[in-house]
Amino acid sequence: MIEAPLLVAGEPITTGEWVERRNPAHPDRLVGRAVVGDAALVRDTVSASASAGASWRALAPAERAARLRSAGEPLEAMTDGIAELLTAELGKTIAGSAGEFGFARTYLGMVADRAPALCADTEEDTRFGKAIVPKEPYGVVAAIVPWNAPLILAMMKVAPALATGNTVVLKPSPLAPLAVTTVLTKLAEGLPPGVLSVVQGGADVGEALTTAPEVAKVSFTGGERTAEHILRALAPGLTPAVLELGGNDPAVLLDDVELTDDLLHRLVMGSFLTAGQVCMATKRLLVPASRYDEVVEAYLRTADEALVLGDPAEPEVTLGPVVDAAAKTRVEALVDGARSSGADVRPVGSIHDDSVVSAGWFVRPTVVLGASDDDPIVATEQFGPTVPIQAYDTVDEAVDRANAGPYGLSSSVWSEDLERAVSVARRIRAGSTSVNTANRWGINPLVPFGGVGRSGYGREYGDAGIEGY
Ligand code: NAD
Repeated sequence: MIEAPLLVAGEPITTGEWVERRNPAHPDRLVGRAVVGDAALVRDTVSASASAGASWRALAPAERAARLRSAGEPLEAMTDGIAELLTAELGKTIAGSAGEFGFARTYLGMVADRAPALCADTEEDTRFGKAIVPKEPYGVVAAIVPWNAPLILAMMKVAPALATGNTVVLKPSPLAPLAVTTVLTKLAEGLPPGVLSVVQGGADVGEALTTAPEVAKVSFTGGERTAEHILRALAPGLTPAVLELGGNDPAVLLDDVELTDDLLHRLVMGSFLTAGQVCMATKRLLVPASRYDEVVEAYLRTADEALVLGDPAEPEVTLGPVVDAAAKTRVEALVDGARSSGADVRPVGSIHDDSVVSAGWFVRPTVVLGASDDDPIVATEQFGPTVPIQAYDTVDEAVDRANAGPYGLSSSVWSEDLERAVSVARRIRAGSTSVNTANRWGINPLVPFGGVGRSGYGREYGDAGIEGY
């Protein structure tokens, strides 16, 4: 069993109440437990982080980058163990877990390479003399992450915040605290004590962290309701925040799209990766009415071939469970609701092992045909293995429907004609829009990522994601 301690001023703390984490594919198996902090301990952790900040911010940016790079070196040797642990606690496929950890390490190196130049002062010659524009860190950054991709989502905050001279206190989700705490503890071992700390717990601990007096910036990834709570709590201190929230990402297929096997595979996995529990997953497909039957037939066939539901530790499995029993109930209710409103719900994929699937927190993947725009399965973020396909008549109509609703995280346009696709992409209100790809295949750490509207504000990745700290 793995234990996730609190990491305060470089010291692991294992006293306090423990919360258990079970394997979502085998809920009878305990994976590990995390010790929960209380408000006083969180405040002490933030104070220790503030004290550690003075010498960390005084280092030359290139020296800080070198320290981060060498602190990250031992992580590579941990790949197999971390992938297995993440799969066990979260239900992500084993290839997906290894890929996520690799991506997090690559991003750390990328930030170490780019941050020193971005930290350099700039100068302006003005009429009255030279103006120097220094790049100062905030101080203590409170980082709060969700469970669905804890390693990369944590590294997206930790790497740029530390490289620019801040210190970080991070709180993982109690639904996936184990792998991320193991990784950050190893990273922290290579850094001065207190520069990187981890506190464990739920909403209470999160609130104690964001409102601790020395916190100078909050970087939050998670749900929109939680973001509302956080902003209310931050209001008295006017503390700045980055918010990376959910989305209801549309994929708009244009009438010239060529349905190659490759494209269909990207389209299907764009929705079903990590059982649909990805912020930038494709959450609805808009298809030209003239090609609706053909697209639906090809999509269902591809999904049947590509999706193998089962224990994500098995290499042949491509679709694991959802995160917990509550998520299973919520997603199944969404699908049942669409069915009882008259939608045609098609189960897709195959089952690797019936006994595992019936005992674990699995949701049978489905494609939902004929749902109306106001059905919750279309209008909200499903965050599960189900996707509606809808028909449209004109591109203007497709753009209007893609832009309907309060979200704008990412989106995608699919067409043979790149110029046409880009011109449609420019009309979609989203933080980013991919062409002929979606989800993590459309993400590049050199390019800023983030939302508009209720998908949040501030940017991660790209130079903007470093300069934000
Ligand atoms: P959540 O909002 O329930 O929890 C996120 C984190 O906030 C957890 O660590 C939680 O313990 C903490 N928290 C809860 N209440 C808090 C409070 N009052 N103060 C401070 N912290 C508090 O979200 P979740 O269910 O873990 O994650 C799913 C959501 O995250 C989805 O909406 C998904 O789209 C979104 N998400 C967005 C991105 C992105 O980059 N835009 C990436 C991944 C996930």
